[in-house]
Amino acid sequence: MVTAKQLSNHPTAQDIFFRVKEEIVNISFSTVYRNLGILVDEGDLITINIAGSEIHYDHIVDNHCHIQCRVCGKVRDVNVPAVNFNGVLPSDASGFTVDGVCVTFTGVCGDCREKIDMKGEKK
Ligand SMILES: [Zn+2]
Ligand SMILES: [Zn+2]
Repeated sequence: MVTAKQLSNHPTAQDIFFRVKEEIVNISFSTVYRNLGILVDEGDLITINIAGSEIHYDHIVDNHCHIQCRVCGKVRDVNVPAVNFNGVLPSDASGFTVDGVCVTFTGVCGDCREKIDMKGEKK
């Protein structure tokens, strides 16, 4: 029901809901949300949890890094080597068993950069 195309560019559940709704007018948010949960459970999707932000979904499930625009909140990929957490022992991690790593860059996206620049010119 939810296609990879609809999932490009790290949408939120809301984003996906609106895109699916274009094709299936009567669909409810809870149905979309439930399906996203199933896809995550099956390993076809990952969630990107950024503190203070809505959950974003990603169909690229390999370990990779993200950047979030601090103006509009959009999430994109960052093309840097992912942090490898395999081999990090509990003794290195304050006794924690490490099962994931989440490095999120912050910055300003191109669209917001443009808007900021335009505002700057008007002054
Ligand atoms: Zn932005
Ligand atoms: Zn991604």
